[in-house]
Amino acid sequence: MQKVAIVTGASRGIGREIAKTLARKGIKVVANYCKSEESAKSLKDELQKENISIDIKKADVSKREEIKKLVEHTLEKYKKVDILINNAGISEYKLFTDETDEDWEKIINTNLYSAFAMSQEVIPNMIHNKNGCIINISSAWGVVGGSLEVIYSVSKAGMDGLTKALAKELGPSNIRVNSIAPGMIRTEMNAKWTEEELNELKEETPLGRIGLPLDIAKCVDWLVEDNFTTGQVISVNGGWIIT
Ligand code: NAP
Repeated sequence: MQKVAIVTGASRGIGREIAKTLARKGIKVVANYCKSEESAKSLKDELQKENISIDIKKADVSKREEIKKLVEHTLEKYKKVDILINNAGISEYKLFTDETDEDWEKIINTNLYSAFAMSQEVIPNMIHNKNGCIINISSAWGVVGGSLEVIYSVSKAGMDGLTKALAKELGPSNIRVNSIAPGMIRTEMNAKWTEEELNELKEETPLGRIGLPLDIAKCVDWLVEDNFTTGQVISVNGGWIIT
């Protein structure tokens, strides 16, 4: 039976590549977007040219009522959710002392609350089916901390905590929960980095290059197929950070 996946933040970058990879495997994908409607439509068109049909669905995943509608849509149409990829995220580059309560709320709600609430909404169906795979796209900064990205680092460390605790609680229901912690990946999120800075980073990276969204999508592909890995934070960073 065809599997069903929801990928949050699939209009661009890493989420878009994950959505394509899963759809090309024959998985029914509900690709969520928030602001980038044109980009989401272009994803649907791109796959349509390969005779692959996906759903694109607008929802701000920092808001419970919009999450509920996204999950309801999926369950009404496909009757189940096998795979949840909590990928939607934002980052900010700011001195800690300049951060405001509004910054905290926005980043924590978009990156961490979204993973909490999305998981809560899909888990009853997964428990009912005794089957599920949840993947949280966290970050190397959640593992080692990033200067000038303190709230972001907190949000990603929180995701990894969610992964570990949920994996224990849901293992008996055959639901696996893992994090993928990417290092630097070439997407719009990193548009602020100059080529010079990226070259320096390459030199610090044992595998000698900056990551691509496909590097993360390949790890998702593997985790989706696997059935004995849970509660893990898998670093995909070319060896840039080795803990
Ligand atoms: P990106 O290119 O900026 O894309 C971010 C995606 O998140 C977009 O599709 C965006 O959708 C979506 N999004 C943002 N806020 C949302 C909301 N409230 N509701 C729904 N969707 C929302 O970023 P990326 O580099 O692909 O990052 C994807 C994930 O990987 C993030 O969680 C990020 O923290 C993590 N990560 C990235 C890197 C990296 O180096 N790139 C490293 C470590 C971790 P719209 O445009 O439609 O609003």
